[in-house]
Amino acid sequence: MRGIFRYFLPHLFVSALEDIDLVKLRNRGIRGLIVDLDNTLVAWDTYDLPERIARWIEKAKEQGFAICIVSNALERRVAYFSRLLAIPGISKAQKPRRGAFRVALEILGLKRNEVAVIGDQVFTDVFGGNRLGLYTILVRPLSEREFFTTRLGRFFERLILWRFANRD
Ligand SMILES: [Mg+2]
Repeated sequence: MRGIFRYFLPHLFVSALEDIDLVKLRNRGIRGLIVDLDNTLVAWDTYDLPERIARWIEKAKEQGFAICIVSNALERRVAYFSRLLAIPGISKAQKPRRGAFRVALEILGLKRNEVAVIGDQVFTDVFGGNRLGLYTILVRPLSEREFFTTRLGRFFERLILWRFANRD
């Protein structure tokens, strides 16, 4: 894939977190996961952590993955889920800026080629992760409800996913 487009293309696109093959990730040398919060782990406007998501996080931990939440959401919300899942969390991350991803790498104690970014948005999670050279996984959003600006971005995401499906 050529040009600027490749910065917006995820390495992997899945419908749900459970579709991520953790064994395959491990075989690629991935040992840590930077995970988005809103619409990746929890529906955007709720505080309800789906049981299947909690189970998946536990499974990833059991398989030895170090995990860190990196979210643009406010501290109170991130701290709540960070405590609930017993994993570190970074709030007000300003993704796609790279600063918070760098801090997460330090928290995880891992190198760039050992970490995957998992999130539901092309312009924050995928673009931000790709800028730093991380392995990026785009997951279908949990909820249709989201910020207006996010919805606007979805139009371009569809374009990029089309491009992903038709990549050379
Ligand atoms: Mg999100």
